[in-house]
Amino acid sequence: MKLIDGKAIAQALRIDVASGVRRFLEAHSRVPALHVVLVGDDAASAVYVRNKEKAVTEAGMRGEVHRLPATTSAAELHALVDRLNRDPAVDGILVQLPLPKHIPVDPLLESVNPAKDVDGFHPVNVGKLWSGRNALVPCTPRGCLHLLRSAEIPLEGVRALVVGRSNIVGKPMAALLLGAHATVTLAHSRSRDLPARCREADVLIVAAGQPRLVEGSWIKPGATVIDVGMHRGADGKLFGDVDFASASAVAGAITPVPGGVGPMTIAMLLDNTLRAASARENS
Ligand code: NDP
Repeated sequence: MKLIDGKAIAQALRIDVASGVRRFLEAHSRVPALHVVLVGDDAASAVYVRNKEKAVTEAGMRGEVHRLPATTSAAELHALVDRLNRDPAVDGILVQLPLPKHIPVDPLLESVNPAKDVDGFHPVNVGKLWSGRNALVPCTPRGCLHLLRSAEIPLEGVRALVVGRSNIVGKPMAALLLGAHATVTLAHSRSRDLPARCREADVLIVAAGQPRLVEGSWIKPGATVIDVGMHRGADGKLFGDVDFASASAVAGAITPVPGGVGPMTIAMLLDNTLRAASARENS
């Protein structure tokens, strides 16, 4: 069994991004800039944003966080996004989710300039991804694809199953695997006989948000398993949507939790920011 080391793969990607930032600086006499918008005082979001801010600085980019009170109106938030859209010094805009309940999410995500949409959530980027065109792609599924590529897992012609159909992970993951020429099935909470579908998969991506949903007996011997799930146990330890102990005895390659998909998400955010900045300079 091969353990896919997301921590090491993410670190290597961050080093690549930092070199890309240095080349960008030489070419354009500035560094890429990511602006993160954080509304309210959700504790988990505050931690995620701090981690993003730190990673952006470590990569040599400029990071700015706009911290707004929970009472911010939708109109005020739209005005800020408008300003960032128009500011030529801003390359990437990320609106940290969840937003307070009084702010409708979809109109806000649709108001971000697609060229600065480093989360890849804008319908223009979603459409480009599904039509095989150059797009900004959501960070977590892009990170999963990078893990598969780095571990040299063959994708062309293989059967891939994605468990979970969210816009953030499952659907873009399916589009990426399709683009890599896998035969893709997308399962969700209404899918019948999930264990049987899992047993057919050469590559299994699990993003269901259900603790230890997938057991070793559901896995085809030798299959590759990517566990996107993230849960914290009563003992404070992180674990995933896959029962690692039983799955690792059957799988040919598997990601651990923690240290698998998690570190890839931030690394890909850095890469998306550099890509957005480069595309804007070259447009
Ligand atoms: P969502 O809750 O948005 O989506 C979960 C999906 O899984 C839904 O499509 C749902 O189906 C499906 N699902 C739920 N239960 C089952 C089941 N029993 N069998 C089959 N499918 C099921 O979650 P996200 O996509 O945002 O996240 C998924 C997991 O990944 C979470 O644990 C989250 O914490 C983690 N995550 C980790 C990240 C990282 O950086 N490592 C980043 C993003 C997420 P239906 O559509 O029918 O409801």
